[in-house]
Amino acid sequence: MDEGKGISLSHNDFKGKGFTTRAIHDGQGAEEHTGAVSIPVFLTSTYKQTSPGKTKGYDYSRTANPTREALEKSLASIERGSYGLAFSSGMAAITAISMLLKSGSMVLSSDDVYGGTYRLFNMVLNNFNVGIKMVDFSNLQVIEKELEKSKYDMILIESPTNPLLKVYDIAAISGIAKKHNVKLVVDNTFMSPYLQNPLDLGADIVVHSTTKYIGGHSDVIGGAIMLNDSVIYEKLKFIQNSTGAVPSPFDSWITLRGIKTLSLRMKAHCENAMQIFTYLMEKKEKGLVDKIHFPGYPGTEYNKIQSRQARGNGGMISFSLNSSKAREFSEALDLFTLGESLGGVESLIEIPALMTHLVIPKAEREARGITDGLIRLSVGIEETEDLINDLEKGFKKVFG
Ligand code: PLP
Repeated sequence: MDEGKGISLSHNDFKGKGFTTRAIHDGQGAEEHTGAVSIPVFLTSTYKQTSPGKTKGYDYSRTANPTREALEKSLASIERGSYGLAFSSGMAAITAISMLLKSGSMVLSSDDVYGGTYRLFNMVLNNFNVGIKMVDFSNLQVIEKELEKSKYDMILIESPTNPLLKVYDIAAISGIAKKHNVKLVVDNTFMSPYLQNPLDLGADIVVHSTTKYIGGHSDVIGGAIMLNDSVIYEKLKFIQNSTGAVPSPFDSWITLRGIKTLSLRMKAHCENAMQIFTYLMEKKEKGLVDKIHFPGYPGTEYNKIQSRQARGNGGMISFSLNSSKAREFSEALDLFTLGESLGGVESLIEIPALMTHLVIPKAEREARGITDGLIRLSVGIEETEDLINDLEKGFKKVFG
């Protein structure tokens, strides 16, 4: 790739502009040949060379593709990072990060992570002699002691966590990580770059399942990595090209389309989730609901941290009923679709112990509070009243 300028898409730099302006424009200037305002889907695997090795900046689409490149610039911009990399799934992005590690490395992780991340480390990477220890990151002293006691090569956290929505102090954890010279990776999927920017809080690498809020319409699987460090970026880009888990040009385009409305959707998710939280609190007062997990739960330590480090509480809520009939509850709803995943415009309901977190052994799950009765909601952007009426059907089914 000798000319390095790429094709004729003008990639503007909107760094000084507000979030929505960047989300709509950054990396996505009009295409120069035709003036197309929407980035074309460059469905090509290879590129014409004028002489062997002489290209217009692209030689093979696993290495680089203009539509994916537009997405990668946009991803970097919305997460306020210098670099972005797009992957074919969130798990592919996490796997690429794990490939920065060598055999014999140890990862310290929060004990409440997506079941797929748990599976990757405990059932795949263990075969490559990469170890993981999971602890509760709510207690900063526990992390400090752990890092003093043993050598770790990476810290991996989610905040808020999946599915218990624990909120960890990213800036404080980053301070501890830096003191011990360990890289901090934050999975920011639940917040989206609109609500929280871990790089600004001191994280070294941010990872997303773009399948969720960034894509936002339950129509594409994807992953992203954003970061500021050019050396780690080059390593990850090398891993991306070497292992090949890249998104297709069409998947890149549809993810870009999602990004343009991310701020509008996130505002609606936050508003609806807050109203549903209030509704569930009323059910709690009546004795129908046992526990509610929500970053916006006033008076909790998690809420204090959330208010400091994020610009909203997001659209995820989990709760348990004062009944063993969580399954019946989940089956009684119409608007809340019973399904895995989250972050789409449509509301979803699931039972983590039976679905997203089934892979974690039952005893371990229960010790962490992921009981069979825990229900997780991904609150969509439908009319609030309709969502509440739908939940009411569940309460009627279980409690009469
Ligand atoms: N990280 C979190 C927090 C998730 O919830 C998920 C999936 O649910 C992933 C990563 C994995 O993403 P994907 O399903 O796109 O591979």
